[in-house]
Amino acid sequence: MNKDLFLKAAPILQEIQDNGFEAYYVGGAVRDYLMGRPIHDIDITTSASPDEIESIFAHTIPIGKEHGTINVVYNRENYEVTTFRAEGEYEDHRRPNEVIFVRDLYKDVERRDFTINAIAMDNQFNIKDYFNGYTDIQNKLIKTVGNPYERFDEDALRILRGLRFKSQLRFDIDCNTYNAMQEKIADTEYLSIERIIIELRKLLEGTDASVVYPLLNELQFFKYVPFFNSFDTEDIKINEPIKLEMLIAIMLFKQPSNISLSKLKISNDSKKEIQKYITILKKLPEIQTKKALKVFVYDYGISILSYILDMRDTLAANQIKLGHPLIFNIKTINDINQNLIIHQRSDMMVNGKDILESLNLKGGPWLKNVLREIECAIINQEIPNQKSEIINWVRTHVEI
Ligand code: ATP
Ligand code: MG
Repeated sequence: MNKDLFLKAAPILQEIQDNGFEAYYVGGAVRDYLMGRPIHDIDITTSASPDEIESIFAHTIPIGKEHGTINVVYNRENYEVTTFRAEGEYEDHRRPNEVIFVRDLYKDVERRDFTINAIAMDNQFNIKDYFNGYTDIQNKLIKTVGNPYERFDEDALRILRGLRFKSQLRFDIDCNTYNAMQEKIADTEYLSIERIIIELRKLLEGTDASVVYPLLNELQFFKYVPFFNSFDTEDIKINEPIKLEMLIAIMLFKQPSNISLSKLKISNDSKKEIQKYITILKKLPEIQTKKALKVFVYDYGISILSYILDMRDTLAANQIKLGHPLIFNIKTINDINQNLIIHQRSDMMVNGKDILESLNLKGGPWLKNVLREIECAIINQEIPNQKSEIINWVRTHVEI
């Protein structure tokens, strides 16, 4: 088991204890440690107030002080230290704005979503497990802390989080918890799209996404999510973990729509990625020759094309045709990539200005097309990447 991250953070817990307070690791890191999974970040929970934490440590950043979180900088690493909190009143099925700091660990873990996420561990690796989370880890069970109907009523995001953990951990969902998910699913309508997207991404990229995606449909979850509610999501099949952007691209490819991606409040990079995938999906059936593949590899690059190949089963399940398997395969793509004469337009030995000067012509929309023709001719080794040869080739071959 990987104790390294905990051992690195142990002096922080010790320092808090030496000052007379309690401190524990909590949440995902403890869960993953007990499961023998890799740990990515450590959350620390403490009875000390944010002010007390600031006075204990020399280097702190008040990143979320009003919510109780102080960043402690220790050995050049950042650690989030959060004061024990109890939940205030819920309104509109969203998390409460009001934060109540408490001195009792039980109160803090009681407000956490699932038993597997409510285990605290001290710097001697002793666990405090008030809700039998360790048993549930061993039984591979996702179960809310307390009554699931009440917990989902307080914050409907927990429904999606539960499904996300199922996808990532390949656990079962406790019967009562699943029944409550079914009953409370409509409350997800009140959630902000940003919170939904964070969890949905993790769910779709989880090991068991192909099992959990049909559950989202069974629960009719997408009915309550902007953008997604305009599509027939049951018609979309997922056979392996998938990026959110690829799922959306497949949806838009199969069910063309004018609905704006802005409803999802995703980044411009994400939107561009979706558009790129759609363009690729449209072009895929044309990749029947090595020549066509060469230009394709040049245009889109190896990493995006190997991702498309990874998604082969899902694409097939959605009746999306890939290029000929003897051509469109990872070996050929790698070979082509290694032997590409140019990798980007700036690798060409001529640019627009060179063409205009040597042909004594004025610029215009034609220039873009000519540059593209040159690019393809170089990639396909019809002309060498040499200035004089390219200019001659343009003179004799290209109609302007
Ligand atoms: P990951 O490994 O993906 O970070 P995690 O369990 O750490 O998983 P986070 O979203 O980082 O998940 O949340 C940290 C902890 O905070 C959770 O383990 C859980 O105890 C608590 N938590 C987070 N969101 C909620 C919520 N909506 N309701 C109740 N508790 C929550
Ligand atoms: Mg976490």
